[in-house]
Amino acid sequence: MSTTTSPAAAARQALDSAFPRGLGAFVDGTVVAGGGERITLTSAATGEDFADFNDPGREGADAVLASAVRGAAKWAATDAFERAAILREVARAISEHVGELAVLESATTGKPLRDTRAEAAKVAEMFGYYAGWADKLMGRTIPVPGNWHTYTERVPWGVVAAITPWNAPLFTAGWNSAAPLAAGNAVVVKPSEFTPASTVRLAQLAHRAGLPEGVFNVAVGLGGTVGAALTGDPRVGKVSFIGSVATGRRVAVAAAQAGIPTVLELGGKSANIVFADADLDRAADGAVAAVFSGAGQSCVAGSRLLVQRSVHAEFVERVAERAARLRLGDPLDPDTEVGPIITAPQFAAVTSLIEAGLQDGGRRVTGAELPAAVTGTPLATGRWVAPTLLDGVTAANRLETNEVFGPVLGADAFDTEAEAIDRANGTNFGLAGAVWTGDVSRAHHVARSVRAGTFWINSYKTIHVAVPFGGFGDSGHGRSSGPGVLDEYTQTKAVWVPTRAAGAPFPSLSY
Ligand code: NAD
Repeated sequence: MSTTTSPAAAARQALDSAFPRGLGAFVDGTVVAGGGERITLTSAATGEDFADFNDPGREGADAVLASAVRGAAKWAATDAFERAAILREVARAISEHVGELAVLESATTGKPLRDTRAEAAKVAEMFGYYAGWADKLMGRTIPVPGNWHTYTERVPWGVVAAITPWNAPLFTAGWNSAAPLAAGNAVVVKPSEFTPASTVRLAQLAHRAGLPEGVFNVAVGLGGTVGAALTGDPRVGKVSFIGSVATGRRVAVAAAQAGIPTVLELGGKSANIVFADADLDRAADGAVAAVFSGAGQSCVAGSRLLVQRSVHAEFVERVAERAARLRLGDPLDPDTEVGPIITAPQFAAVTSLIEAGLQDGGRRVTGAELPAAVTGTPLATGRWVAPTLLDGVTAANRLETNEVFGPVLGADAFDTEAEAIDRANGTNFGLAGAVWTGDVSRAHHVARSVRAGTFWINSYKTIHVAVPFGGFGDSGHGRSSGPGVLDEYTQTKAVWVPTRAAGAPFPSLSY
């Protein structure tokens, strides 16, 4: 199936229908145009420009924050049961707009519609899940010696600044706003300057569903202006950041200098370990989905394939065959499985890392040529990379330790379980990984031994908002899903009161 409108025209149309007066920051319930540097959005599918907007600069960020401070005060004073009810309405509004959000996301980023539909539905699920927690945040009564009633309360940070990447703009906006809102914070989301549209639309829907003004603001704009302003501003209580390691570190330093704590979700270089006793057909399907869905632009991409030597050649062949059959094409075509590379700098990075992988001894098994669905069409000018599999990618290859963030899989053989585990742990990242085997004890042993925040056994990429997600090592710290996240987005206050009027003696501690 193919669509009739060109990708760039479809992107323009989707933007115009969501924002008839143009794209800008979302402040106090309104879309506001910026006055700074002009930012041009280009279609990943064809390379054509389709829209532009102005960076709001540091002054714009200041206005967004001033509104968020007012929003935070209102929201924290709102009854928790009312907050829960409003968030349920937000979940409902998102569910009702899944189709529209998915089209906006696909048209403006180039991600295939089948992925963006699933991601938009997940965002509704996130709001529904955390709405359920909003009225269940409880402190504790703590027994202490003497005549005291001592208890704790959970207090929101105030304003949470959420800085998000371009690979899954809507999903990460939901991921980093539903929990802080449920905990009673206002959020300012700063989406990537490459892909701001769906985040602004999400905030608009949330506002229309009942979130008061200033509770969910969006600061569209550049990292160096808007992002930097948010991370160093004392009006921000907490920064949650999803993006690259380099920027994450910069953000953490700026936040620390302003005394602001951070949650960091950074990159990955996840290993997918296949033993000879695995269900090889299922493992091959899993290996393909692990790295090629989203064109590899996924933090948990299973970009390193480690296969036990006795089945290595046959397994690599199976994966290559499947990869070569993946359908590339118009992102708005529901049959498209793999889209283009979303940004121009990322396209350059992916192509140069493939070259590096070849120079360092990798042997290309598939991915040398783009399919006719791209080359013989208007898509030929877009940012396309064929799903690429290089075999013989040893530990010394640059593909082994550098996150590609593109549809590139490096494979190699191993002999023993210990060797596979060592190899999986051979990078500073620790985001995810998987093992495929029919031996249940081995599966658990490998799961326990690989240093990663998420590990799958005979599966890949399953995630759910109810389950903690985050990284070890260079992949970040803090968690952004599961019930524990409510601890990330609240502080604990302890209250002491004497239970006898005469009171207990004051202690002579100089703490
Ligand atoms: P990036 O680090 O370039 O940008 C992320 C965000 O930071 C953008 O909004 C950007 O504008 C902003 N930014 C840039 N400079 C800033 C500064 N000085 N101060 C404040 N903000 C600034 O990342 P990207 O290229 O957008 O995304 C790709 C990366 O994100 C990959 O490394 C990927 O692994 C990672 N990622 C991680 C997860 C996860 O959950 N661990 C999820 C998605 C993406």
